[in-house]
Amino acid sequence: MARGKTAGAKVLAPGLNYIGGEWLPDEDGLVLESRNPADIREPIGSFPNSRLNEVRAAVHAAKQAFKTWRLVPPPQRGALIRRCAQVLRDRKEAMARLMTREMGKPLSEARGDVQEAIDCAEYYAGEGRRWFGETTHSELPDKFAMSVRTPIGVCGMITPWNFPVAIPSWKIFPALLCGNTVVLKPAEDTPACGAAFVKALADAGIPAGVVNLVQGIGEEAGAALVNHPDVALISFTGSSYTGSAIAEACGKSLKRCSLEMGGKNAQIVMDDADLDLALEGALWGAFGTAGQRCTATSRLLLHKKIHKTFVAKLVKAAKALRVGDPLDERNQVGPLVNQAQLDRVSVYMDVARKDGATLRCGGKRATGPGLAHGYFFQPTIFDGVTPEMRIAQEEIFGPVTSVIEIGSLDEAIAVLNGTKYGLSSSIYTRDVNGAFRAIRDIEAGITYVNGPTIGAEVHLPFGGVKNTGNGHREAGRSALDIFSEWKSVYVDYSGKLQKAQIDVQA
Ligand code: ADP
Repeated sequence: MARGKTAGAKVLAPGLNYIGGEWLPDEDGLVLESRNPADIREPIGSFPNSRLNEVRAAVHAAKQAFKTWRLVPPPQRGALIRRCAQVLRDRKEAMARLMTREMGKPLSEARGDVQEAIDCAEYYAGEGRRWFGETTHSELPDKFAMSVRTPIGVCGMITPWNFPVAIPSWKIFPALLCGNTVVLKPAEDTPACGAAFVKALADAGIPAGVVNLVQGIGEEAGAALVNHPDVALISFTGSSYTGSAIAEACGKSLKRCSLEMGGKNAQIVMDDADLDLALEGALWGAFGTAGQRCTATSRLLLHKKIHKTFVAKLVKAAKALRVGDPLDERNQVGPLVNQAQLDRVSVYMDVARKDGATLRCGGKRATGPGLAHGYFFQPTIFDGVTPEMRIAQEEIFGPVTSVIEIGSLDEAIAVLNGTKYGLSSSIYTRDVNGAFRAIRDIEAGITYVNGPTIGAEVHLPFGGVKNTGNGHREAGRSALDIFSEWKSVYVDYSGKLQKAQIDVQA
């Protein structure tokens, strides 16, 4: 779905790749065009449509830069990352406005996206003085033992459009802190945001070649990065379909790979919950970023005792949400990112009706003054959904939520767990015993109690179980395990050959 905005032929002042410290055009003069999804008449810019040659050049630059960057002491790497935080802070408003224009999330959410990158930089800057390993005793006398983290090499980062600054930051800052160099291939729907982010890092003083930017489409530039033999690691966020293809390619060459993919997140509302609070959470979780978050609340599991009242209130509140130009701060729901995404969400309306769900509000493209040239879709609620229906199982990535009635906490948890994904989850209840059972039994990487399914903070692990990921966690200290290797070191100062497990037996 990522190529919906890229087909235009008009060449504007072109954006550039950033390779080895230089801003360079595409070798063949090919361009990708980016347009405002709230009004597709407005061009944002044109960018290189890079292929193998540009990727090769970027990987080469990163490989050269790795020779020196890996030797920079981690506290100094951290200090440079702190400078990145400052530059991002200085440019926060401009970057947020660009983001809103390029991918359509409301301005307040775009500011949050840039803030997340600032937080992330601050966090990993601090980690520069905490890049700890372990020291321990050998089982043999006069022998010292320790473990240290070491960098991996050139890391290829492949990122989506829905968090076009925050997600690259989650990957790039911990990778840099660990002494790696980077080639970023941002989503083809948000090349301007990718460029603005890399420019901030370059202007903050990240040395030439340490971070490189290659714009282009997934099947060309992305695949070239995945398949390049000098790329030691791929860190990917995007669809399960693409993630699976990347994992397969990485598996063949035994390349390290961390994947962050889809979700089908549910919010449980029990009969003892604070219903007004749960309602606010549901609205924010389901319709924030027009539902285009991997942690969006795409299922609402409502206890049968509160089901009817809750749905009535939710429908009223959803109908009252203001859909429109995301730069206008009175609007709460912006457009979908591109035509392909609009088509995809529209198809699910028919799927839901055929499966027997009841449409309670929305269900079609939003129309009205100022909406004609954008990909706007009405906030949509389906009721009477059963757990096995396609809209309750498949990731839609739009302002659509499905209500499923449940009779008990056990049933709610079973339904919540009954998809192939396991990213985020939420329960609203005042019963502390029930909340702790949910924390224990829900199969997801993230569980919120009395909060919506969205709201991750950068110092905690982020990621999911089952088909959402492949066992890694981004953010927090856990990201350091993606971007570094452990080395165990033994120093024998006995002056003689000592044999572990043979000289000494417990
Ligand atoms: P979405 O559907 O959310 O756009 P994708 O998984 O298609 O998600 O895209 C996420 C990122 O993966 C984008 O940067 C895209 O260009 C890239 N991508 C898509 N296909 C491939 C591929 N075959 N190889 C490498 N990267 C890809």
